[in-house]
Amino acid sequence: MLTAHLPSGYVLARLVPQRRWLLPAALIGAVLPDFDMLWFYFVDQDSIHHHRYWVHVPAFWGAIAALILPVIAVFKHDFLPVAGIFFAALFLHMVLDTIGGGILWAAPFNGHLYSLVEVPATQSHWILSFLLHWTFLLELGIWAGAFYLWRNGRAG
Ligand SMILES: [Zn+2]
Repeated sequence: MLTAHLPSGYVLARLVPQRRWLLPAALIGAVLPDFDMLWFYFVDQDSIHHHRYWVHVPAFWGAIAALILPVIAVFKHDFLPVAGIFFAALFLHMVLDTIGGGILWAAPFNGHLYSLVEVPATQSHWILSFLLHWTFLLELGIWAGAFYLWRNGRAG
């Protein structure tokens, strides 16, 4: 997914009862994995698919959530919805990346990048191939949903 992670976090946050810090937590969780692009470009110099980095591995975030959420539930119960939506947004990121990009859903047991759709390299640059593939309509739909929620206030 190229462009719709941030609006997907917005939509996610708007679909649950509002409370303080919920929206920032959802927005950060929705985009956080893609900060690995800095490592991808400046350190590894395109040599490995960035979806293979630990920040794009569901088992990693599942383990972190399994460790942190119970602690928050016991010691900082009021913060649990914020932490919950943060992890939900992280997993939403990985689900959306599964559409055309591939995610290591079975890691550490195998290294296959699971993808719902293969986006063929039909253009001179991979970004153009993604922009001109039908799956980009899903991204536009997420943007439209976020824009609708933003313009029309809280649903429900
Ligand atoms: Zn990503």
